[in-house]
Amino acid sequence: MADYDFDVLVIGSGPGGYVAAIRAAQLGLKTACAESRATLGGTCLNVGCIPSKALLHASELYEEAASGALAKLGVKIDSMSLDLDTMHGQRIDAVKGLTGGVEYLFKKNKVEWLKGHATFVNADTVTVGDRTVRAKNIVIATGSSVTPLPGITVDQERIVDSTGALELPEVPSHLVVIGGGVIGLELGSVWRRVGAQVTVVEFLDQILPGMDGDVRKEANKIFRKQGMTFRLSTKVTKAERIGDKVVLTVEPAAGGTPETIEASHVLVSIGRRPNTEGLGLDKAGLTANKRGQIETDHDFGTSVPGIWAIGDVIPGPMLAHKAEDEGIAVAENIAGLTGIVNHDVIPSVVYTSPEIAGVGLTEEQAKERGEIKVGKFPMLANSRAKTNHEPDGFVKVIADAKTDRVLGVWMIASVAGTMIAQAAQAMEFGATSEDIAYTCHAHPTHSEAVKEAAMAVLGKPIHI
Ligand code: FAD
Ligand code: NAD
Repeated sequence: MADYDFDVLVIGSGPGGYVAAIRAAQLGLKTACAESRATLGGTCLNVGCIPSKALLHASELYEEAASGALAKLGVKIDSMSLDLDTMHGQRIDAVKGLTGGVEYLFKKNKVEWLKGHATFVNADTVTVGDRTVRAKNIVIATGSSVTPLPGITVDQERIVDSTGALELPEVPSHLVVIGGGVIGLELGSVWRRVGAQVTVVEFLDQILPGMDGDVRKEANKIFRKQGMTFRLSTKVTKAERIGDKVVLTVEPAAGGTPETIEASHVLVSIGRRPNTEGLGLDKAGLTANKRGQIETDHDFGTSVPGIWAIGDVIPGPMLAHKAEDEGIAVAENIAGLTGIVNHDVIPSVVYTSPEIAGVGLTEEQAKERGEIKVGKFPMLANSRAKTNHEPDGFVKVIADAKTDRVLGVWMIASVAGTMIAQAAQAMEFGATSEDIAYTCHAHPTHSEAVKEAAMAVLGKPIHI
């Protein structure tokens, strides 16, 4: 240790980096974390998961009141209005509380925060601001940034990325969302609920690529019912700001006659790309792959001994909980323990209303691998969904036809983000659909739909 300033230096304090740093310190390693942002917590806490969920929650409540849904339950509100400043205020408070919480945890665990941008000098030395530090192990957890769309300039006023879309000071009259992925649908939902007309332009022939086919189709139907307009198989070739308006030029994805759409605001949400530029990877002897990601082995070690990588900057889904689990695993591997992440069982959730969630293989992927059995149960037949007036959605359990082992679970339900945890746990324990079907589920709960879908795999659901 004599030659080193730290046992572990983590670059980046997102859910991957801050968790890795805390776990390393808990394991008795002298740890620092470099972060160039003014607050800790990375994309997720500052401009991602947390502020978006704060707006999703508030806007959902607003819509329930404004649409008369609450009145139908006997909750009459004689006069109501949108106070967007307060809505933003509670978003800012949530971010402040949680980023401050990470700072507190760093102090508590004696993780030193090195403030500034980190650049490799060589494989074990990094400069952070005007400081040069040497570390026995370096964990790259630099995360990802918005993918720009060539020809379209984000001005964060009328043409915004996800960060700008979280901070709009007024409700757009017409928001055009470029990209029908997770960000487009979550932030599109926020602004639709508070009064914006929302048009989603998606290059592919369906929204939410990567998710189960049935879920994608049903989700599209539900969003249309809620008032969103979709232009599928369509690409945006130009977006020009003219005063307070934006004029977009769109054409069929396969090519064809262009047309224009006028918008008050545009959200560019076509994906994110890993942050490897300006890191001096070459000085460390590392190269990024074609997608700009850093490749690692199963233990999160890179091709250079002593340098590790986790989170959005490595291949795999760009999700906070995946980054967190990798953070714990990498710290344990550095400490000589065995840190493992089962990348086959990473749940994903879209926090719209209803929520959309899945874990494991889609039906399409499972079919490619062999014979399967599928059980489906509609939320319409679930008693709790009925009492809560939440008829939309279903649960689908996909199992191996021979062994009955659960290969994937997909669902649309008001609380799908919470329900998916039991599916992930069952799959982690190698459950069969029968195991889920014979597990006692509390009544009345939305989760009973998971049990019934598992019973449907065996051909014997009770309530349909
Ligand atoms: P990041 O969180 O991106 O953190 C990396 C940090 O490294 C950043 O703070 C950056 O400033 C810092 N950094 C980069 N380079 C350097 C350098 N050279 N020196 C010093 N510091 C550096 N995921 C979910 O699972 N659930 C959600 O609900 C969800 N919602 C999202 C909503 C939005 C709008 C967005 C944009 C993303 C959302 N995500 C969500 C994705 C999630 O935010 C990411 O998967 C997660 O933050 C990745 O964590 P990370 O630690 O790999 O990197
Ligand atoms: P995404 O990959 O989810 O969706 C991007 C969409 O844009 C895709 O449907 C794609 O086909 C489409 N697209 C790409 N180029 C296009 C073009 N030129 N014109 C029209 N459509 C185009 O990306 P995102 O929504 O930007 O989110 C980025 C990442 O952040 C995702 O990987 C996601 O995992 C993460 N995220 C997660 C959550 C969550 O877990 N709830 C929330 C937000 C973001």
